[in-house]
Amino acid sequence: MRILLVEDNPELASWLIPVLSSAGHALDHASDGIIANQLLESEPYMLAILDVGLPRMDGFEILRRLRRRGSRIPVLMLTAQCGVDDRIGGLDLGADDYLGKPFDVDELKARVRALLRRGQGQTGGRVQCGRLQFDAASRSHSVDGTVLALTPREMAVLEVLLYRQGRPVTKDALAEQVAGLCEDISADAMEVYVHRLRKKLAGSGVRIQTLRGLGYLLDEDVAAI
Ligand code: CA
Repeated sequence: MRILLVEDNPELASWLIPVLSSAGHALDHASDGIIANQLLESEPYMLAILDVGLPRMDGFEILRRLRRRGSRIPVLMLTAQCGVDDRIGGLDLGADDYLGKPFDVDELKARVRALLRRGQGQTGGRVQCGRLQFDAASRSHSVDGTVLALTPREMAVLEVLLYRQGRPVTKDALAEQVAGLCEDISADAMEVYVHRLRKKLAGSGVRIQTLRGLGYLLDEDVAAI
């Protein structure tokens, strides 16, 4: 899932970037409000983590513009620990959650997971398709309880397909969710990931179909059950 982190404190950003990336998310980082606003206009993020005090445009204004454009992506505001006004202001503008600085990294990760699930219309910590299950807390995919050995990239592709099961996802949309701004995943590379995933899902009763012109679709292979 692709996330935008907007934080101008270099120390905090350099601490958060590896934490969020290691959780398997494609992460972009902006330290300037206007650039963050432009990125939110042009890139298909699944979540934004917004600091309040930023150069050139503050987090409230970024959020106000985001909601005015009709975007409903989840937004987590990073506020001063004692900044009650900041929290109320953010929630009133349409933030989904807030975290007071300084915060515990595990709490941030848990809130990110919860917001991503909510953004995908899932409220539980697990997503299931047939015998395939994704556990958001441990970030593992399993079939009948046996954890699949997947590379981080394969895991990211399968996660997106699983959250959108039964609906086609174009190759471009998939690439945009699993890679950040600084990476480029070619259509060939995406085919390789999907090819490997199909092998690892063999016999699971879950398949990844290629729909010509529409992309990939994950569903239960009813004929195989
Ligand atoms: Ca700041």
